[in-house]
Amino acid sequence: MDVIAERIKHLGTEKAFKLADNIKECLDMGIDVIRLNIGEPDFDTCKYIAEVGMKNIEKGNSHYCPPAGIDSLRKAAAKHISETRNIPIDYNKLIITTGGKPPIGYTMMTYANPGDEVIYPSPGYPIYESWITFMGAKPVPIHVKDTNEFRFSADDLEKLITPKTKVIIICSPSNPTGGVSTKEDLADFAEVIQSKCNDNVRIYSDEIYEHILFDGKKHHSIASVKGMLDKTIIATGHSKGFAMTGWRLGYAILPTQEEADVFKQLNINTIACTSPFVQEAGREAYENPHVITETKKMVEQFEKRRNYAVPALNAIEGITCAMPGGAFYIFPNIAGVCKNLGIFDAYEQVKSQHRTSPSTLFQMFLLYKYGVATLDRNSFGTVGVTDEHFLRLSIAADLETIKKGIQLIDKASKDYEGFARFLAEGKHLDSL
Ligand code: PLP
Repeated sequence: MDVIAERIKHLGTEKAFKLADNIKECLDMGIDVIRLNIGEPDFDTCKYIAEVGMKNIEKGNSHYCPPAGIDSLRKAAAKHISETRNIPIDYNKLIITTGGKPPIGYTMMTYANPGDEVIYPSPGYPIYESWITFMGAKPVPIHVKDTNEFRFSADDLEKLITPKTKVIIICSPSNPTGGVSTKEDLADFAEVIQSKCNDNVRIYSDEIYEHILFDGKKHHSIASVKGMLDKTIIATGHSKGFAMTGWRLGYAILPTQEEADVFKQLNINTIACTSPFVQEAGREAYENPHVITETKKMVEQFEKRRNYAVPALNAIEGITCAMPGGAFYIFPNIAGVCKNLGIFDAYEQVKSQHRTSPSTLFQMFLLYKYGVATLDRNSFGTVGVTDEHFLRLSIAADLETIKKGIQLIDKASKDYEGFARFLAEGKHLDSL
């Protein structure tokens, strides 16, 4: 009898969190690390939100509260979603959670039986694949390509839908690619879904980067398309747009009261409730007009950094980099660098002894020899991935840091001998 239950073997992870141990190891070795791996804004929560949180703690608002969330936040969030998506939202179907992550697992637990198929973007947020496999459902990745701005088409989606399809995940703007589905894309997806899927299929629309869009783009939700509201779980939260990652605040809006009650029951069984002082602070984010000004200032910074980083990466021989439309990530294609440094040959040599990939080898070379922390392609889904060679760089770092990081990537991309030495040392060749 094993100590750990069998099912845990099927639970994946988020390597962005695991990389912290490697960074610590580098720091202990005296390597100065430039962190282009961070999945959270490098801005602190603005004072308008923080003050409300602090005041609520001071006045003793620190007890259990309703498991579905406090009504004042549920109503404010419902109003926000309703106004920005132009759809009616009943706040009773809106369940507050500790961040945008719990609704992903809740969705898989609620809808996916073993053997059901779940369609999701790849590269995509790794927690989707993790929960799909953990629930014994079948992961069905849609492989999004840099050559199409990391968008997929209704045709791509249609090809993957079968009678076993139970959940379809859409994430726009996307982590890790910054890809944004257009209003027309979403209307096309809806048409395919309405013609191909039965009424019990659910769409999980992860909209956590809704506030972080560039080039004057506006956020669109598939729930706004006629006939989609009663099939869609809209999930979003405060982590990214309001720089509140550590507060742990998110929510999901369910198609029916019955489904919302399941999410509430899952809250009761796991977190009980989200801290009431955090929820009051989250309500302020929607009700205080100064907050949206702060968000806009933050997004302007991200856009400036993107405008620097993408051309700078494209100027490096062996790298091609698509322009992200939102979020705070850049996802350069490094196939040319892998070729120039001999990484493809190196991979063939080491793959029988190491769980690795060409982009992992470059990721580790960059970290341990050049002190630049990034994430490899396989940190964002592994099912059916062949011949994809990318890194994720976060632009949630100041411009000077980004500049320094890209200069080092440029240097590393030409360091043929350095890579050969790194390979010969035989250390840090494995994926996280
Ligand atoms: N969904 C996506 C696409 C994300 O990128 C993240 C965080 O990186 C989450 C959900 C989870 O967010 P939270 O930190 O609020 O749990």
